[in-house]
Amino acid sequence: MKNKILNRLKRAICGVGAIIVCFSLFSFTSVDHPKNDTLVNNSFKLRTIIIDAGHGVKPDNAPPGHYSRGASGSFSSERNVTLAIALKLQKAIEKDLDGVNAVLTRTTEDDVSFERRAQIANENKGNLFISIHCNSLADRVVRQRVGTRRGRAVYKSVRVPDRSGKGALMLVYGLHRSREEQNAIKNNKIEDDSDLNGDGLDPNDPVVIILTDAYMRKFRKQSVKIANLISTEFVDTDGRRSEGLREQGIYVLCHAAMPSVLVETGYINNPDDEEYLNSEAGQNEIVNSIVRAIKTYKTDVEQLAQ
Ligand SMILES: [Zn+2]
Repeated sequence: MKNKILNRLKRAICGVGAIIVCFSLFSFTSVDHPKNDTLVNNSFKLRTIIIDAGHGVKPDNAPPGHYSRGASGSFSSERNVTLAIALKLQKAIEKDLDGVNAVLTRTTEDDVSFERRAQIANENKGNLFISIHCNSLADRVVRQRVGTRRGRAVYKSVRVPDRSGKGALMLVYGLHRSREEQNAIKNNKIEDDSDLNGDGLDPNDPVVIILTDAYMRKFRKQSVKIANLISTEFVDTDGRRSEGLREQGIYVLCHAAMPSVLVETGYINNPDDEEYLNSEAGQNEIVNSIVRAIKTYKTDVEQLAQ
């Protein structure tokens, strides 16, 4: 009987001991955690960059989602140019930026839905999202004289290609377009790459509100920073034209929970730009400029986090 009681007591003491050990372990970790977190925050490192080659060919067995084939020039397609540049960019980042990993959202001509692209970016815990595209101007509708009838000129509306667009353009995510931009889109002055637009997002949907709000608060500033750096490199180093930066509601940019920029590398329906975008020299220039911009961006954000 005595032994039984003693054993019970022993077990009880061991139990308390175990609880004490647990507590002390717990308190250790709970004291350690905030320290670690502060440490992590203070030494932010740009480790993973997501490179997104715009568009592609929708595979037969593609899962549901939004797909887009992209624009075409006279001899090439946007989806092939974007993939070639993205592959070169991945190699250059891993070669020139120590300790930085570059993840592609697609590696073949098969298209990947916008939803999946954003998912890949988030799953890989990207610190920066760079989407590669080519711009294109929509056809202009003009009135053309086609003949004469009873002494009067006869006109007809015809669509003519507009090859006047030239140079790069950076898009960052913005929920509201300015009236000027909306009018430009309405008047077909700039390509309304409507497949890419987040206009289908319901602004009253709580998920959309949280995502867009968080994006604006956390990532907009850094998105604008990287966009400006890339644009400046194109102009100052490569001597190219850039239309600068524009805010636009773009699905894939708002759903990637990280600073994001969409780089329109040039106008594929402009003969000079199409030549440049398809040339080795042109693609290398674009890639090197983006890498230089990322280097500056990396130093800036890592220093700010100190
Ligand atoms: Zn595009």
